[in-house]
Amino acid sequence: MYYDVVLSSDRGSFTDYGGSSVLGYVACMPYRLVPRVFMDKFFTPKVPTDSEGKALYAPYALRKIEAILSNSGFSVAVVPPENIRKFANRTKIIGITAHDPYGLNPVSAKLSFIFGGGPTWTAEFFSEFGQMLKKLKTENHVKIIAGGPGAWELSLNVPDWIDTVFVGEAEADLPRIIKGMLENNDIPKIVHGKNAKLDSIPTIKNPARLGEVQITRGCPRGCKFCSITPETFRSIPIEDVKKEVEINMKGGWKRVEFITDDVMLYGSSKLRTNHDAIVKLFTEVMNMGVDGIWFPHISAPAVRESPKTVKAISEIVHYDVDRAAAPVVGLETGSTRIFEKYMTAKAFPWTPKDWKDIILDSTAIMNNYYIYPCYTMTIGYPEETEEDVEQSIDLVQSIIDHKLTAWIFPLPVIPISTTYIAKNAYPKPEKLPKNYWDLLYLSWHYDLQITRELIPILTNGIKNSIARRIVKMMIDKVFSSIDNIFLELKNTKGEVSKNFSQININNTIGVIKAIYWLIRIAAKPM
Ligand code: SF4
Repeated sequence: MYYDVVLSSDRGSFTDYGGSSVLGYVACMPYRLVPRVFMDKFFTPKVPTDSEGKALYAPYALRKIEAILSNSGFSVAVVPPENIRKFANRTKIIGITAHDPYGLNPVSAKLSFIFGGGPTWTAEFFSEFGQMLKKLKTENHVKIIAGGPGAWELSLNVPDWIDTVFVGEAEADLPRIIKGMLENNDIPKIVHGKNAKLDSIPTIKNPARLGEVQITRGCPRGCKFCSITPETFRSIPIEDVKKEVEINMKGGWKRVEFITDDVMLYGSSKLRTNHDAIVKLFTEVMNMGVDGIWFPHISAPAVRESPKTVKAISEIVHYDVDRAAAPVVGLETGSTRIFEKYMTAKAFPWTPKDWKDIILDSTAIMNNYYIYPCYTMTIGYPEETEEDVEQSIDLVQSIIDHKLTAWIFPLPVIPISTTYIAKNAYPKPEKLPKNYWDLLYLSWHYDLQITRELIPILTNGIKNSIARRIVKMMIDKVFSSIDNIFLELKNTKGEVSKNFSQININNTIGVIKAIYWLIRIAAKPM
């Protein structure tokens, strides 16, 4: 069968991450350090396909594009990367979503610079995919358009095999661009899509991986470093959310993963939590017979503003010690000066000066209801001094002193090209305030301690007691090594990160070097 457009993405995006989106972060590691076989088997496995080779479930972004284009009258197939060759001579356009094509997103940038640099798996997968598409383009004369959350990276340096990079939302402008490409019109190398009106956002037509369903778009808090900032905030009507849940359930997904930048924003106006809308959303979706609902982000000020909403969510979804949620939450900084300059509305309805209390109170509230936050911090602003980092250390130390359950990840702030700080320089390890490495060690040491405490709960699901003991022992050994890595980074103010660039686990010498290196740091007394 012929298709106007075939949609796909690289292996790092076109996967269900072995059933847990958290494992997707492994693809942000330098590819030297994670063997290919682990990626293929555990972290980025292939998705199942039908007899023609189309995906039975796909990343939500591709399902949304599929719906937008098919509603505009185009025939569309969504195909995993390993099958794209079969479809290349049956289409005129291949559309791809790029998640992190050059490994520049904040998590990739951090893991790469801590572990000695080099391409991440996200970049490696994109590069492999690009080489294949370049060949298929020459052989089949197809046109290639790329969009998605990583389109801003591509716009910095558009590969020669991509005809057009589409930055922004697709609903208003993508059908017009696709029509132009099919009619061989001249299309600019980079196109910016306008934000979609709420009533023009279609529901997906086929199942998304992991039961993904979008409930909000955009975020009104307006942090200057965030790519979400320029968007207009919208909540998706509950009827549309339920339609998509139903489609995913028909595809076999019993769990639901809400896509949102802050679950507490659902149905809100002027940043005030809409308790009733959130309770209705969670109740009605659970009543559809799903096993559980998970969400990627929640904001600390909203938690503190409406603890009763957090309690209600937890009770409706039956979160518990062994069924806890672990969303990513922006902690950003302990410095009031940096906070006021870059994220002044983030603390609303309180002020930047209240930030420490907001974080401590909201973490305690979340913990009460089995929500364990993964806090991300942004460090490395041009004017950030050791005094600012000292205040961040003080905030992290307070979380530790209060024995709160939270993971804390200090990340370098990345000047994403669609943000207000696009012109800032990329942070380099040697340019960061010297005590950044103290903050990094303090945070990771606590992260490992928290994870160790939760291991009995996390490993309870493993039925075989011998396997459970082995897993616990392995985690313990690996954690000791990781802890030593961060201690060395602290003691050498980041210098030791250069040693990691010697390691490439994907070749034989790399394996030997890696084993030698791990033994060396594991054997070193603390
Ligand atoms: S609160 Fe989060 S999602 Fe919203 S603008 Fe700030 S960083 Fe972006």
